[in-house]
Amino acid sequence: MNMYDIIAKKRDGKKLSYAEISYFVNQYVLGAVKDYQASALLMAIYLRGLDDYETAHLTRSMAESGDMINLDSLGLVADKHSTGGVSDSTTLIVLPLVCACGLKMAKMSGRGLGHTGGTIDKLEAIAGFNTSFDINAFMSQMKSTGCAITAQTPRLCPADKLLYSLRNVTATVGSIPLIASSIMSKKLAMGAHIIVLDVKTGNGAFMKNLSGAQKLAKTMVNIGRGAGRRTCAIISDMNQPLGNAIGNALEVKEAIDILSGAQDGGDLLKVSMTIASKMLCLAQAAKNEADAAQMLKYALNNKSALRKLSELIKAQNGDVKVIDNTSYLPAARITASIAAQKSGCLSAVDCVKLGEAAGVLGAGRAHKDDIIDPAVGLVVKKRIGDTVKKGDILAELHANDESLMLKATERLENCFTVSQKARPVKLIHEVID
Ligand code: URA
Repeated sequence: MNMYDIIAKKRDGKKLSYAEISYFVNQYVLGAVKDYQASALLMAIYLRGLDDYETAHLTRSMAESGDMINLDSLGLVADKHSTGGVSDSTTLIVLPLVCACGLKMAKMSGRGLGHTGGTIDKLEAIAGFNTSFDINAFMSQMKSTGCAITAQTPRLCPADKLLYSLRNVTATVGSIPLIASSIMSKKLAMGAHIIVLDVKTGNGAFMKNLSGAQKLAKTMVNIGRGAGRRTCAIISDMNQPLGNAIGNALEVKEAIDILSGAQDGGDLLKVSMTIASKMLCLAQAAKNEADAAQMLKYALNNKSALRKLSELIKAQNGDVKVIDNTSYLPAARITASIAAQKSGCLSAVDCVKLGEAAGVLGAGRAHKDDIIDPAVGLVVKKRIGDTVKKGDILAELHANDESLMLKATERLENCFTVSQKARPVKLIHEVID
């Protein structure tokens, strides 16, 4: 077998065998296949596509390129994945909610990149919070608390790490089979039995239109089910930030405030409840969605979900004082606001600009190795459909540097559209059960 023939076969639109796909993945991880040939194959895949079998084979080969975690000794374990958005701190709400209802949840999360945030950066805004474990410590925390969140280790899916970096510089990121296999290889390697996927669609999402999101969601659900995992997906809206806060400590504060009842949960809680409900149904811990909703509301109202978040923070060496007093989270030195220039109704929000403005303040990274500032970010004050009067505050900036605040303010120009009326926003576009 050789790479030249494999590239030529896909270039000509033919189907690759499992042996050919696993040869490519294994030899690339070993360094025997060089970047120029891997890039050529990725571009051929980007242009010609992969069918469901090839996509499943690619996913399996990538998952098996590193450690495969076996969680069977723990009973049923759930995991979730969001395809990335702005103000999406659903993991910080879903995990405590489902764990308070008795289900275990193990999650490997990423860092923010570009305009989207990452759960690991958010959790690291809590003083002392540890996100890197070895497998023994991970399993022992899963046994004692029923939940854990870890950053990606170099031993988990090394093929995905290498291929994702290559896709980033070869204009091959936006391919559904490549995105689906990249995401699902990490899910399969993490070993969870239940996987709920939250595929975002809208101006702040990877998938700008619904049909792309549907295709990605169906491809990932097929991969999960084919690998014997109980999998489902929701397609949720990303035409405005999901919550109000954008920035790491600000998003942790928002999640704590929602779980403690200090803040109305809004769309962030609605999407979190939907994901959590799917998990409880797939685990057969709830008889149906109505039963699941009741269990989750109980866990929210009696604060057992908030206590579960406190247990997770404690188990990972974080400062649990933030649970009762969010002023222990890092806070920015200066604040400013963006006001509406005219009266009307908020009809559109540019999520990418909002995420980028938070990035300019220091909440995100332009490059993988940039250092982030956990305290800074934005808090959005209006949602699509809200009535706006000239001078009303649309967003609040939290900054530690005056010049960055000015730059972020410039980035926010024309970010909010105020019109005579707004089209209603559908929050959950579809469920793929
Ligand atoms: N997230 C991933 O993990 N992989 C992709 O290819 C795209 C988004």
